[in-house]
Amino acid sequence: MNAALTPIVPEPSSPGVQICTDPESSERCLRARVAFAPGDVLVSFGARMTHLEPARLTVQVDERCHIELDPSWLSYLEHGCAPNVALDLTGGTSGRVVCLLPIAVGDVLTYFYPSTEWDMAAPFVCRCGAAACLGVVTGAARLALDAPEVLRRHWLAPHIVRRLPEMSVRLAG
Ligand SMILES: [Zn+2]
Repeated sequence: MNAALTPIVPEPSSPGVQICTDPESSERCLRARVAFAPGDVLVSFGARMTHLEPARLTVQVDERCHIELDPSWLSYLEHGCAPNVALDLTGGTSGRVVCLLPIAVGDVLTYFYPSTEWDMAAPFVCRCGAAACLGVVTGAARLALDAPEVLRRHWLAPHIVRRLPEMSVRLAG
């Protein structure tokens, strides 16, 4: 809904994406300024590989490493239980926001936080409104125990996929 577009300056360095304020939550979010198709790269960025303890705004990039996103406005990417983008940090020193589902102008960009987070430092109650909303978002480890079928529906970062066998979760078949 374009009426809800409330651009915030400064503009992101990626012209297809805009920082906005969600009128309901007053939280900042990212919206599409143009349409995207699955496979499109919305944002490419250099990943600052600072090793940090897991925190509310860090993203897990492998079994041990948690980073802050750079540019920092990427932290406005919201969680969605039916996400329209993936946060792909498998490039080592680079990252990409990749379109998973058709995105229209004005759509809020969301990614599935458990696709990168094994254990979340700050679990939260999700109000994304998706039919398949998880309710409480924790991390992939908890989903592997409680609802492995959910993990099978989502793009998952390689470090999450690598740990699923220890939880007796198989993705294929
Ligand atoms: Zn949800």
